[in-house]
Amino acid sequence: GIGKALEGRRTHLPDSHPMYFKRPISMVRARDCRFYDEEGRSYLDALNNVTLVGHSHPRLVETASRQLGRLNTNTRFVYDTLTEYAERLTATLPDGLDVVYFVNSGSEANDLALRMSRYLTKRDDVVIIDDAYHGYTSVVSDVSPSRYKHYGKPDTTHPTPNPDRYRGAYGYDDPDAGAKYAQHVIDAFDRLAAEGRAPAAYLFEALLAGGGQVVLPPGYLAPIFAAAAERGVLTIADEVQVGFARLGEAFWGFQTQGPDVVPDFVTMGKAMGNGFPMAAMVTTREISRAFDPTGRFFSTYGGNPVACAVGLELLNIVEDEGLQHNALVVGQYLRDRLAGLAERHPLIGDVRGQGFYSGVEFVLDRATKEPASDETLIICERLKDEGVLVYPTGPAWNILKLKPPLTFTRADADEFTDTLDDILETGW
Ligand code: PMP
Repeated sequence: GIGKALEGRRTHLPDSHPMYFKRPISMVRARDCRFYDEEGRSYLDALNNVTLVGHSHPRLVETASRQLGRLNTNTRFVYDTLTEYAERLTATLPDGLDVVYFVNSGSEANDLALRMSRYLTKRDDVVIIDDAYHGYTSVVSDVSPSRYKHYGKPDTTHPTPNPDRYRGAYGYDDPDAGAKYAQHVIDAFDRLAAEGRAPAAYLFEALLAGGGQVVLPPGYLAPIFAAAAERGVLTIADEVQVGFARLGEAFWGFQTQGPDVVPDFVTMGKAMGNGFPMAAMVTTREISRAFDPTGRFFSTYGGNPVACAVGLELLNIVEDEGLQHNALVVGQYLRDRLAGLAERHPLIGDVRGQGFYSGVEFVLDRATKEPASDETLIICERLKDEGVLVYPTGPAWNILKLKPPLTFTRADADEFTDTLDDILETGW
């Protein structure tokens, strides 16, 4: 029962370990877009950005079990699953991004990209977007504001304004918002260069997650990338949350900012194995050769045959089931319905997103935009009681993050919106 499981957690996990919901649920299984608890109650999953093709997809279960029963080893041996997967994976990326470093978590992928950037440029400083999260290792904690606020900002980390058009200096009504936010980044490059400490890298997410489900304004990345290329600053796209067709209009988040935006490093994880732990950093042959002429990199589990087989089958499923298109169409449908609720419920201050990656921001007052943080948590608890799972995020924890499996249907979107509507209507 849940009592025993909670007691076990208290004994064996750190006190600070996060948990969804004040009254938590003990999950026993999940299938497609639904979780099931001990009592057999079902919950619609609108919060999980890992299970890209739905929970326990039969094709993935079969592929993983078959490969586990055949061969699982490391990349010092040669096996077809790695070759086939790397080919398919890099085919989704712009030409030149051909070399894959297989690792096990998004943190490791970002850690490696940062380490390479510093080694290649012989520089230390890194420019980031404020409020971002890039992982838990020492190196990436140092570029994650939500982490370093607890121990002080490292001297080498340089946050630039979150390009949030709802709260930031340049709003949705400003057609030049992208260029104006970009200028802050370019200014940071130049300020640092003038101090004799030009940055090694610019690290960004193509749609901010912990930063508040913020869609990058059009025209934001292109000028930053042009300036970075001129100044020898390497670019790292953290696609750990947004990659793999979730944004609908493109397979990778950076691609939504136009064809001129081609990063030096792309990092990925989460959805990559649909929950099977795997991650990667992809870069060019040239960068890889400069860093790694004598085997400076090896990961015991990275790129193992089971991970590669699962990753390959996931790409097949996304294609066979038309999931990128579903993310585009049903994602927009979900936001349209939520925008409809905003007309009747003043608590909803903003609805934003791309594909199946949306944010609903709750405010106490639309004029002052004071975050409705407590209310957001209570609404999530109420939604859970009604069998719908979603959770707050953002610097003030007042934003619902909606990142369902890409198999989410219109009926699921209606169930989500109608349940939220009822709760906002009847009070919580
Ligand atoms: N980058 C981003 C954008 C993330 O959201 C996360 C995880 N929340 C990470 C990196 C770190 O990934 P992991 O937890 O797999 O190490």
